[in-house]
Amino acid sequence: MEKKNLDWGSLGFGYVPTDKRYVSNWKNGAWDEGGLIDDPTVHISECAGILHYCQEIFEGLKAYTTKDGSIVTFRPDLNAERMMDSARRMEMPPFPKERFLAAVDEVVRANAAWVPPYGSGATLYIRPYMFATGIVIGVKPATEYQFRILVTPVGPYFKGGAKPITICVSDFDRAAPRGTGHIKAGLNYAMSLHANVTAHAAGFDENLFLDPGTRTYIEETGGANFIFITKDGTLVTPKSDSILPSITRRSIVYVAEHLLGMKVEHRKVALSELHDFAEAGLCGTAAVISPVGRVVNGEEVITFPAGMEQMGPVTKKLYDTLTGIQMGTVEAPEGWIRRIL
Ligand SMILES: *Cc1c(COP(=O)(O)O)cnc(C)c1O
Repeated sequence: MEKKNLDWGSLGFGYVPTDKRYVSNWKNGAWDEGGLIDDPTVHISECAGILHYCQEIFEGLKAYTTKDGSIVTFRPDLNAERMMDSARRMEMPPFPKERFLAAVDEVVRANAAWVPPYGSGATLYIRPYMFATGIVIGVKPATEYQFRILVTPVGPYFKGGAKPITICVSDFDRAAPRGTGHIKAGLNYAMSLHANVTAHAAGFDENLFLDPGTRTYIEETGGANFIFITKDGTLVTPKSDSILPSITRRSIVYVAEHLLGMKVEHRKVALSELHDFAEAGLCGTAAVISPVGRVVNGEEVITFPAGMEQMGPVTKKLYDTLTGIQMGTVEAPEGWIRRIL
């Protein structure tokens, strides 16, 4: 298979249309057979539910070329399960796990020429998503849906290495208590855009959102979970029912505990505890881990001991181990890697 003639090293995190996408439709209470299509556009009614009441959910994962030249995905079963959870909360029909896994394999295989080569730093981003195509005018769940998967090659998230970022404690909230913060729905992002634009305009890279109930505990950013390292080397991750259960975070916790022999704690983390940590990072599929060097809360500035020059040493060890597992240079725990080609 001939790879596309792209400058893999200089790709950004953007959309490049590829050859094939996967589509399946839900109608009369069932998913159709589904399959690959060429058309990158979507045709729906002007009265489709997605356009008015925002019934939409999505996932994000990547295909990697490993050192031995295989094309693999990383824990796609967890994306399948999380998307089913998101669907139930949004009164949408879950797309079955086995079909999800088969569809991801199929669309990646059909676009194998777009999967960046090993060592380029680039990967193939996979975006499964589902939205209400059925007509609604009164507020209720639609009766027709479309499930799609698009894939697009993306560059290394950080060009020239991961520099620590500065984030601010947001004046806005991301997710209501007992709301939809724990599911991957576009609506959570729609309402975070104003907070993002505001933070960027003030010179910050990201927002730290607090629990909206008491505004004393740390939740997450708009699209990544937090990890913290204490001064004695314990990994601490914030716990809350309105945090999106990041697969990267869950994997880092496992790597820390079982591969690196670290102590780990998953618990509520108060904003006032930030002073106690040696290192901080944001984790998600896109960047794996972005180091956080500094948090600004109004007048107060907290710079972590790891500093603003490079990723902290413990964060780096976690990052190297997890990316090694994804790229096939570190042995993966049972069931983490799904070989596609
Ligand atoms: C997708 C997402 C994450 C990261 O999850 P991963 O499974 O690690 O990619 C974190 N927070 C939010 C709000 C998200 O939507």
